[in-house]
Amino acid sequence: MTNYLYKSKQTCPLCKKTYESIKVRNSKLIILSRYSDFYTQYKEIDPLRYTIIVCPYCGYAGPDYAYEIQKKEDRLAIYEQLKDRQLTINFNKERDLNLALSTYKLAIYVQGFRKEASGILGGLYLRAGWLHRFEQDPINDPYSPGPDEELPYLKQALTHYLKAYELEVRPPGNMNKPTFEYLIGELYRRTQNPAEAITWYNKVVSDPRNKAYPAIPKMAREAWHVCSNSNT
Ligand SMILES: [Zn+2]
Repeated sequence: MTNYLYKSKQTCPLCKKTYESIKVRNSKLIILSRYSDFYTQYKEIDPLRYTIIVCPYCGYAGPDYAYEIQKKEDRLAIYEQLKDRQLTINFNKERDLNLALSTYKLAIYVQGFRKEASGILGGLYLRAGWLHRFEQDPINDPYSPGPDEELPYLKQALTHYLKAYELEVRPPGNMNKPTFEYLIGELYRRTQNPAEAITWYNKVVSDPRNKAYPAIPKMAREAWHVCSNSNT
């Protein structure tokens, strides 16, 4: 195992068994680039490869930022789907791109059984897309499009985020509303729909309540310019 990784005790929120999962030592990470859609690229290692925690006993998989299952109905729904399945792959080791992608696919499957799944699925697809960006050399342009391989994932992320925006009470993760709207704009821009992107950037810029988060309208304005310049 590299210097960047260590093992940490984890209790599965579904089957309650304890196991060791792989974590990244955040103190060792060196930032190379920050992109306009909140992707951060680090030197030598992509911590996103270790975001998904997988229980080796029952196969429950989810992102480390939302691994717990708060609602009983979600727990029952996920249990029903996993109870007769057996995990045949060991995910708790150093992960290459393919193994990391498999953890995201498993998490997308498992988390999809939650009642309010769209926000969490959007985040999983987004990060699965970003895994491909790490394979590229950083070019220090926060607005540059990623490799073609990430596009289908970003499209899925957008679809789920739009559903979450419409139907779910809170924006996913720790995002506030203007950040979420800006990110939707970014996903439209990165999936080659600049007209829709501009609509969402405008939403962020024109809402006076967003003055409480000055960084986000500023980012929306900058992205708006990138969008309209690339249109001409
Ligand atoms: Zn388990």
